[in-house]
Amino acid sequence: MCERCTGMGRRAFLGLAGAAVAGLAGGFIASPAHAAGGPKTELTADQALEKLKAGNARYVTDAQVCAADLSGQRHHVTAGQAPWATVISCADSRVPPELLFGGLGLGEIFVIRNAGNLIDLDVVGTVEYGAAVLGSPLVVVMGHQRCGAVAAACDTAIKNATFPGSIGQMIEPIVPSALAVKDVPGDIVTNAVKENAKRQAARLVERSPIVSGLVQSSKVKVVSAFYDLDSGKVDFAL
Ligand SMILES: [Zn+2]
Repeated sequence: MCERCTGMGRRAFLGLAGAAVAGLAGGFIASPAHAAGGPKTELTADQALEKLKAGNARYVTDAQVCAADLSGQRHHVTAGQAPWATVISCADSRVPPELLFGGLGLGEIFVIRNAGNLIDLDVVGTVEYGAAVLGSPLVVVMGHQRCGAVAAACDTAIKNATFPGSIGQMIEPIVPSALAVKDVPGDIVTNAVKENAKRQAARLVERSPIVSGLVQSSKVKVVSAFYDLDSGKVDFAL
């Protein structure tokens, strides 16, 4: 349990209610959620983005995870969900969105993960459900430092490397990003990760009339991001 909890006393910490606590605790106490078709989050895309930034800042400066009241949180979300952001991130074990955005609880963010944070049919459909049905106003496509999938795509692009099983076919969509940055100064994998995140975010909007329509009507915002393993920071300005 972190100092914030022990300082206040766990009972007092968990007993506090309302938005002020949600803001302080960054979502350790889940708001009552609603079934699909019920009330959605009242946060705008910009407010959701600020909440993710604040959560990540908390993670960077004070990366302690509270003993979350998972049983209590589960009780609040049994009837449904109203996530306030959708995050598409890599399957890499070092980049769990709920933790690096400050320790988010059950029912807060809609998370899709695969190697290389790629946009395929399954991801498009999942994002559409999150945005159009559950009312999630923000979509983040987040790459990360030293991504193995992107590094493999760079090796394919530069060294004609091959990989066993389905891995080579899986990373094919990343190869154009690797080729696009191969002559850019700096670390090629880092540059390719950022390029891939931007391209996948654009691909999502291109492939989904539902998402592009929500973006055009300013109900949804799609952004790309880069997670720095060394610092813990998420950069949204790619
Ligand atoms: Zn990765």
